[in-house]
Amino acid sequence: MPLQIRIHEGYRTLPGEYLFSEVGRRVREYRMGHPEKRVISLGIGDVTLPLPAAAAEAMACAAREMAAQDGFHGYGPEAGYPFLREAIARYYATRGVTLSPTEIYVSDGAKSDLSNLPELLGDVPVLLPDPTYPVYRDVNLLSGRRIHLLQGNGENGFLPGPEGLTETGALIVLCSPGNPTGAVYDQGGLQKWVDFARQSGSLLLVDVAYEAFITGDAPHSVFEIPGARDCAIEVGSFSKMAGFTGVRCGFTIIPAGLCAGNVPLHRLWERRQATKCNGVSYITQRGAEAVLSPRGVAECRANIRVYQENARVLAALLTRKGIRYTGGENAPYLFLQTPGGEDSWAFFERLLTQAQVVGTPGSGFGPAGEGWFRLSALGRRDDTCAAAERLEEIL
Ligand SMILES: *Cc1c(COP(=O)(O)O)cnc(C)c1O
Repeated sequence: MPLQIRIHEGYRTLPGEYLFSEVGRRVREYRMGHPEKRVISLGIGDVTLPLPAAAAEAMACAAREMAAQDGFHGYGPEAGYPFLREAIARYYATRGVTLSPTEIYVSDGAKSDLSNLPELLGDVPVLLPDPTYPVYRDVNLLSGRRIHLLQGNGENGFLPGPEGLTETGALIVLCSPGNPTGAVYDQGGLQKWVDFARQSGSLLLVDVAYEAFITGDAPHSVFEIPGARDCAIEVGSFSKMAGFTGVRCGFTIIPAGLCAGNVPLHRLWERRQATKCNGVSYITQRGAEAVLSPRGVAECRANIRVYQENARVLAALLTRKGIRYTGGENAPYLFLQTPGGEDSWAFFERLLTQAQVVGTPGSGFGPAGEGWFRLSALGRRDDTCAAAERLEEIL
């Protein structure tokens, strides 16, 4: 007898193919037809530089420690080892944000937290930027929540504000600096969202995975904004800051006093995490701790400078070509408006077939991304320069 079980209804509502699978499929097909061509990817949001030495050494040392009887660590605390929670609190203190280490919850990455946190909530309306990181949309589609898109466009610089919104008790997800747009909220822009969340009894969920790329005086954390402790949860990641995309470590900050009704959200989160996961490896957490040491921070900055230089090469090209774009300054992404209003996937195909350069169609990040296109500066130096030269010819 075939399986008689029913699948989760939410999965029926998900778009058929995850954006990067579709990009990958099209690139594989092109490569098969043109094995002699060298394709350069400025596409997916993965880093390319190796780990900071401080982190690698700390992880090697932790692995050796684990091989000794008195250095062995089994299951750790679900919320993370105190040494890492304290190191994260000290990192925030350098930005003038005071946190208790007990407000910081270590995880295997921001994506897990961003997709698991909404599990704590009932059937609330969800406000999401458009275009946006597809994870926010997909997890809320899975749970059947009503999604209201906050439209980004060239006019608002892809930084939609709360003006005109009437929702109450909503979940609002913001990403600053933004993926795919590279746009970052300034103090005033983020303050408007904090004020709106407090007035409307809404929860702000802020993703700061790219905070280490901020060059100007934009806030690195929502908790730099007065009132945020009454309404916000923040999710951070070592992935883009320290090349931890393959190591896996992130964290969530839930202020101690933040309650839904009379239920403290941190208590719900602890309960959820204790039920569904057994924490992050000791070795990984020692690596993350080393990332936040003075030497680790300096090594991360050196890597980020390489990506920022890549972004400058791409930005200079777009400027020379008179192509409108956002980002590149406070994030490793440039979001460009396709010349002549070409649709995002047509532009993708043109870059792939004429220049063998891969980027990401803006429409894959939401309907407002149609007619836009993302280039990543997280590639290798030589690849980025070679791609820029090829694009110079065809744009
Ligand atoms: C890369 C990225 C993350 C990081 O996710 P991890 O699971 O920590 O690797 C989070 N949010 C956005 C918007 C990203 O682009």
